[in-house]
Amino acid sequence: MKQAQDASGQSVDAPKETLNPFEIAQMLIYNATRELGLPMAVYEYLKEPERILTVSIPVRLESGEVRSFIGYRAQHSDVIGPCKGGVRFHPDVSLDEVKALSMWMTFKCAVLGLPFGGGKGGVICNPADLTRRDLENLSRGYIRALAGFVGPDRDIPAPDVNTNPQVMGWMMDEYSKMKGYNTPGLITGKPMILGGSAGRGAATGRGAVICIREAARRMGLPLRGATAAIQGFGNVGSHTAMLLDELGVKVVAIVDARGGAYNPNGIHVPEAVEFYTQNGTVTGMSHTETIDTTTLFGLDVDILVPAALENQINMANVDAVKAKIVAEAANGPTTPEAARVLTERGVLQIPDILCNAGGVTVSYFEWVQNIQNYYWPEEEVNQKLEQMMVNAFNAVYKVMDQRHVSMRRAAYMVAIKRLSDAMGARGWI
Ligand code: NAD
Repeated sequence: MKQAQDASGQSVDAPKETLNPFEIAQMLIYNATRELGLPMAVYEYLKEPERILTVSIPVRLESGEVRSFIGYRAQHSDVIGPCKGGVRFHPDVSLDEVKALSMWMTFKCAVLGLPFGGGKGGVICNPADLTRRDLENLSRGYIRALAGFVGPDRDIPAPDVNTNPQVMGWMMDEYSKMKGYNTPGLITGKPMILGGSAGRGAATGRGAVICIREAARRMGLPLRGATAAIQGFGNVGSHTAMLLDELGVKVVAIVDARGGAYNPNGIHVPEAVEFYTQNGTVTGMSHTETIDTTTLFGLDVDILVPAALENQINMANVDAVKAKIVAEAANGPTTPEAARVLTERGVLQIPDILCNAGGVTVSYFEWVQNIQNYYWPEEEVNQKLEQMMVNAFNAVYKVMDQRHVSMRRAAYMVAIKRLSDAMGARGWI
């Protein structure tokens, strides 16, 4: 692994807290490869994405101005199958972030036993500054620029932060026009009418809640009456809240990018969803006090669900965390140092690559349905998701128990073992 260097090129001690998501991902792979006693060739194959594309996307905005946006796509590993992963539209998108997220996708697919590797994309932009037409032109421009790089057997994008089924629909349409025939298998998370899967919208939240349920069962924590706080109320946070609510969990606090809502007696979750849909924030909901992320992380709740962005639980706030379960619905929400503190304190952290894998699992189902041109009812999708999530949870929990490691380490060990088996079967190692 690379050592940190100062300006003169001298090696220096590692910084106090590792915030670069790419370095975090590399560190996790390195540790799991060593702990399993696998050849270091496995780490060499996995430490960098196989391919990265950087594109400039010129868009004529509705204002008449032409602006170029930078977009990325990283394909981390296709040793098990075609690459798979979302596309993020956000001002803070960086190449390192996209690389890290593509690596996480490889491990997520491997933990779940899906026949996919990892990919991820992003465009540096602030969708809030763009009109709907601008967003459509940017989405079409991005997929046009990537057309030779992606495809149903090669790399299959999906939604992520600030992208949604409509964006997927535009991208699928643009790609299909270029090909000259309908290609629903290019992309998942599409609107249902274009070959989207039933159950995809709620899938990531549903997967997270299945993990929380299994974790609580093993800890002897009854979910009815348990309390939860959720950071992020977009696709993942809102569905997680709804499904926890259905299980009788009291969701007492929610924060989003613009504020938050707190009620120690429990927030009315369906009302919060409606309020958020109308106002873009939960701040100002009736029967709630305003709350910020710092206060939310320190609440005395049973379950904490970070469902927003990376590095949210870090050395600055980890000591305040009181939850028994931290369910990482977001990607990389806990820094390694903060994760270590939580592990030492006996907090069960359900790692992102397992906790939020429900989305990619139903994306896999969507791709299978597109290829077969045969669509399953929602109950069937949910039942298959339940089965795959529980199997993955059990596999990870077993390694955690047997090896006395954190659940995160165990998840990486399960994933790397599968990746290493595939490398062996291909004759790479
Ligand atoms: P989204 O854009 O639908 O919602 C993001 C939410 O986070 C919004 O409510 C936003 O207000 C909030 N947020 C943003 N910055 C914040 C901040 N600084 N503090 C508090 N809240 C903030 O995104 P999403 O699809 O729900 O994704 C959330 C996380 O889950 C991301 O890490 C994403 O990579 C991960 N994830 C998403 C999926 C999926 O299927 N959508 C699958 C796996 C993982």
